[in-house]
Amino acid sequence: MSPVRTSTVSRYGASRDDVAALVRALDEPDYRARQIWDALYHRTVPLEDATDLPRRLRERLAGDLPTALEPVIEAVSRDGATTKWLWSCARDGAQIETVLMRSPDRATVCVSSQAGCAMGCTFCATGQAGFERHLDAGEIVEQVLRAAHASEQRVSNVVYMGMGEPLANYDAVWTSIERLHDALSISARRITVSTVGVVPAIRRLAEERLPVTLAVSLHAPDDVLRSSLVPLNRRYPLREVIDAAAAFAAAKGRRVTFEYALIHGVNDAPAHADRLAGLLTGARLRGGAHVNVIPLNPTAGYTGRAPVTAAGFAARLSAGGVRATVRRNRGVDIDAACGQLRARVIDGPQGSASATMVQ
Ligand code: SAH
Ligand code: SF4
Repeated sequence: MSPVRTSTVSRYGASRDDVAALVRALDEPDYRARQIWDALYHRTVPLEDATDLPRRLRERLAGDLPTALEPVIEAVSRDGATTKWLWSCARDGAQIETVLMRSPDRATVCVSSQAGCAMGCTFCATGQAGFERHLDAGEIVEQVLRAAHASEQRVSNVVYMGMGEPLANYDAVWTSIERLHDALSISARRITVSTVGVVPAIRRLAEERLPVTLAVSLHAPDDVLRSSLVPLNRRYPLREVIDAAAAFAAAKGRRVTFEYALIHGVNDAPAHADRLAGLLTGARLRGGAHVNVIPLNPTAGYTGRAPVTAAGFAARLSAGGVRATVRRNRGVDIDAACGQLRARVIDGPQGSASATMVQ
């Protein structure tokens, strides 16, 4: 059995078989494989601090199962509920973000699935920066574990709403979902994949064994407006996106969530709400539809801004027969929206008041 090569397998990219092969290559007894796996996924501390493993072995593993992410910035919001990391990937220095949000009843980690994003949504900081590369499964899973080590609460929810389009990096994302479910025991329904509407991939997701939650980013109730905000709409127009979402809901028996970034004077008129409600009620989605209204987070590359209030828009959707909630913008003081911390660091190093430069 050849030893695991550190250049290809990172700490959370390693499968159980990889760990077993490593244990054999190190001439350690077989039971160490289970111990190491438990130390990786069932402890609240990093592997280096898993004191049930002999120190010599831990030191060895630090090299043979290296972490994939180096912290650059760790920022805590003023209310203490939100922590955000900017990481540098050990592989090539690509920068990605992770957010941990804690409330009394849950702890949610928001992960990045790509460094950058090729989809080019006009209002999104990640889209403005362009595509760098796909993350591998180990880089995605490690974001959750690193956040878990920093959280007193057990991580109960994972959302793929950080940088990147998860369904454009399907295989790595799915491998990471299986690992989070199988090794970290996060229930499938508490794992949310947010997509801008990659139709074939939504249909593929509907065939998978785990009934994850699907969130679809709509942002507009008609194709002309949506294409101006979301270029992918020219390839997969609204009708096809909503049909795929309906097929997912039917296959999985799960209500689909729709996201709607509310932009003053662009997509926030009562007529937009009425049209969206008509579109979604007409689609006969199993379990009904739920719209998450997200007041726009301003970004440097887009002149739009959030309306004064989003409550009226949500109420109008409700009146039209569609459940709607306004998502509180958490951690705005630490640029906790998609791609914004990285944009700030790259565009100007002023940082935010509560951020700590780690290196
Ligand atoms: N690529 C996926 C997931 C990452 S983005 C997607 O687009 O769904 C997660 C959510 O944040 C999406 O709904 C996206 O539209 C939204 N978003 C991105 N930039 C935003 C901004 N500046 N203000 C408000 N919401 C934003
Ligand atoms: Fe990519 Fe999502 Fe941003 Fe669009 S909103 S550019 S799909 S990360």
